[in-house]
Amino acid sequence: MTWSATVLTIQPEMFPGPLGLSLCGKALAQGLWSLETLDIRAHSTNRHGSVDDTPAGGGPGMVMRADIVAAAIDSVDRRHRPLILLSPRGQRLTQSRARHLAQGSGAILVCGRFEGIDQRVIEARALEEISIGDYVLSGGELAAMTLIDAVVRLQPGVVGADASLDEESFEHGLLEYPHYTRPQVWEGHEIPAILTSGHHQKVRDWRHAQSLELTKSRRPDLWDAYQRRAAGAATKH
Ligand code: SAH
Repeated sequence: MTWSATVLTIQPEMFPGPLGLSLCGKALAQGLWSLETLDIRAHSTNRHGSVDDTPAGGGPGMVMRADIVAAAIDSVDRRHRPLILLSPRGQRLTQSRARHLAQGSGAILVCGRFEGIDQRVIEARALEEISIGDYVLSGGELAAMTLIDAVVRLQPGVVGADASLDEESFEHGLLEYPHYTRPQVWEGHEIPAILTSGHHQKVRDWRHAQSLELTKSRRPDLWDAYQRRAAGAATKH
């Protein structure tokens, strides 16, 4: 069975969008994963097809109705897939979460619009809330696409060499080292000599040192976690 995403949205025409192009698009065409959208509006109970109403307690904006969102969710064949709500209040999406999702059979992704969805449906259907970062988007669709992209490229056969995934940013809790390619000299800048030296071990050491340096200077949060893990591993021996 290939990894399958079902996206619940009021904007199904946004899909596959960028997911239909490039790496993910090619893999989609090859059947390495599958994508289905479900229009939440199809479950609207009124003839205007509206899915939202004014917030209880007052305030700006509109809220997606629990009954309509729940009906849309209940119409989906779960097939043991996690039920996820894209939400700025959720746990932050990480590479390890993406890897975990990639190992499963797929995901059902609920995209919010307006102010979000009625809290009761989040609780009653036990939606797992996932955020793609600390900023607010106008809808969950781009967040769902981001999550799908991160997961699909981890599927077997999607990215050419598996080794290229193994060395990437976050895979070992570090940011990736810098890359260079021809020309050898560009605007007077040379490729670091070590990379063209042919010494594979020296190249590996240099890249690892660059990863450490970059992580330390740019991401103190990742650096602290990396050092804690390294200290933990050392005391185990
Ligand atoms: N009023 C809400 C924001 C609603 S934004 C709040 O302050 O928390 C509308 C929808 O966009 C949300 O329901 C969610 O599905 C999506 N969304 C916005 N930002 C997101 C983020 N950082 N990660 C994931 N989904 C997001």
